[in-house]
Amino acid sequence: MKKIVMITGASRGIGYAAAKRFAKEQYPVVITSSKRKEELKKAEENLKQYGGLVLSFLADAGDYKQMEKVVRETEHQLGTVEILVNNAGIAWIGLFQDMEYLVYEQMIRTNLLSVMHSSHLVIPGMIHKKAGKIINISSVWGNVGASCEAAYSAAKSGVNGFTRALGKELAPSHIQVNGIACGVIDTQMNDCLTLEEKEQLIEEIPAGRFGQAEEVAELVYQIAVGHEYLNGQIITLDGGWI
Ligand code: NAD
Repeated sequence: MKKIVMITGASRGIGYAAAKRFAKEQYPVVITSSKRKEELKKAEENLKQYGGLVLSFLADAGDYKQMEKVVRETEHQLGTVEILVNNAGIAWIGLFQDMEYLVYEQMIRTNLLSVMHSSHLVIPGMIHKKAGKIINISSVWGNVGASCEAAYSAAKSGVNGFTRALGKELAPSHIQVNGIACGVIDTQMNDCLTLEEKEQLIEEIPAGRFGQAEEVAELVYQIAVGHEYLNGQIITLDGGWI
């Protein structure tokens, strides 16, 4: 049987595109989302059309106990997770001083602690199997920081540091941990931008366009299926932008 893939935050956007990429190759896929029950169910139904096994769980990736249930139930129903894609994330644009502390706490929980929680929960199984891939979906703002996205930048910077360190820690156990620092990807996360703001952004991007969720998904897939010597790296996918 093909390796079991778990992708957090996969009811839409990059996570869903990644789930589709694996489902098309008949990998058993586990998808999660914290809200949007209908959207998640629809995603599950669509993925099942490819003929493979698909499980979906409504769970907050930033909540350890909820994710523990997801991982244990997956192990019970399918087996050990060997490919983990930490994708769940939220954005918030505005001045840091205007951000309620509860909002930036949630930002860190959803974008950084989620990555640590799911990794912590699947690593013992991976070590037992002497195989595993953890792929963290990060952002160019984790590399360089963005004005008006300070908490998001802090979270993604944390993801990058965690990825580099964990890659070193797990390499002797034949587990690779890598991250993808995305530029602007055309998903609903950017629906808050006006048409004018989008056009201004596109002008700054040498590739002359936003990236597509499917392009991120393809890189996730390529990292997952090969490259055993690639470890602890953050690969930037931004059309030459930053
Ligand atoms: P999106 O808003 O389209 O999708 C996000 C997904 O995560 C949804 O399925 C949502 O339900 C889920 N989610 C949100 N909070 C969650 C939680 N607490 N627990 C579980 N699931 C949760 O966004 P996207 O553009 O597909 O973003 C996916 C990842 O890519 C995020 O980590 C984001 O930071 C990163 N990223 C996106 C861009 C971009 O321009 N779209 C750029 C850089 C990085």
